[in-house]
Amino acid sequence: MTAVFNQIAIIGVGLIGGSIARAALESGAAAQVVLFDGDANALKRAGEIGFGKPAASIEQAVSGADAVFHCVPVGAMAATARASIGAMKPGAILTDVGSVKGNIARDWRSLGRADVHVIPGHPVAGTEKSGPDAGFASLFQGRWCILTPEQGGSAEYVAATDRLAAFWTKLGSKVERMDAQRHDLVLAVTSHLPHLIAYNMVATAYDMEAVTEGEVVKFSAAGFRDFTRIAASDPTMWRDVFLNNKEAVLEVLGRFDDDLTALRKAIRNGDGQKLFDVFTHARGIRREIIEAGQDTAAANFGRDKAEE
Ligand code: NAP
Repeated sequence: MTAVFNQIAIIGVGLIGGSIARAALESGAAAQVVLFDGDANALKRAGEIGFGKPAASIEQAVSGADAVFHCVPVGAMAATARASIGAMKPGAILTDVGSVKGNIARDWRSLGRADVHVIPGHPVAGTEKSGPDAGFASLFQGRWCILTPEQGGSAEYVAATDRLAAFWTKLGSKVERMDAQRHDLVLAVTSHLPHLIAYNMVATAYDMEAVTEGEVVKFSAAGFRDFTRIAASDPTMWRDVFLNNKEAVLEVLGRFDDDLTALRKAIRNGDGQKLFDVFTHARGIRREIIEAGQDTAAANFGRDKAEE
């Protein structure tokens, strides 16, 4: 089994960092994994689980790595890259897994190491859980990983991007290359706004608890429960996503507001045809997502009854 990278470094050993470490070792995509995390307990735990070898400092973690994966919240990416770039090997790859790409790409390209290949990335895979114990090797199986390399790079840069793509493929991902701005707009629609809506939905329901005397929680139906799962996601991660993808999120939110106003009007005016048409169209989109292999057609998303 030939490894794509002899050694990788994982900075931030939570859900995503831990899953990469596990998948890289299990698939043989990397021969060795070195770990660092700002949280000493998380780093210790990651070592115990077997994610790789904990390092004493961030510089030590990256110094022998062929590729360094920053797996910290988007707002911490600038600091971790700055703290470690000086210790990286010439020719190594500097990459990440952040849910926003434009800001990171801009910031990292001004780090002043022309001999390091900066290739931002985003595995579009995750759960609402955080921390090292949440990591698992099959997380990336069949999921997209988006890379946002610079246009018109050198032959070495293109080869490094191909190597990084091969690594993600070995982890089970389907790899797509995309412009960073386009990534941020697409993800604002498919991920960022749905999370904002879920956080807001749960906040509204919580405020209503005073009126409904505890019945929101008691009678929580599948629709509301699905919102609460999304809204259980890490607050630091999601705060950073909205602070760093402001323009795209506000643009999509504007469109959402318009459509919501139209639905409000339809309800007020008793316009059943409008409601029926919008709901029918939405149902068709769900079918397309299942046909594209992005979800299961099983009732209740295939969850066992016992899990409800
Ligand atoms: P996580 O489970 O909370 O893990 C992040 C780890 O990074 C934590 O151990 C955290 O320690 C550590 N950390 C934070 N700031 C640091 C710093 N300055 N230096 C060193 N370590 C630091 O988070 P995650 O869900 O894996 O998310 C990591 C990244 O993946 C984020 O950028 C997110 O946007 C992206 N992503 C997440 C998902 C998802 O579904 N969760 C999906 C795709 C991409 P503390 O706990 O002490 O802060």
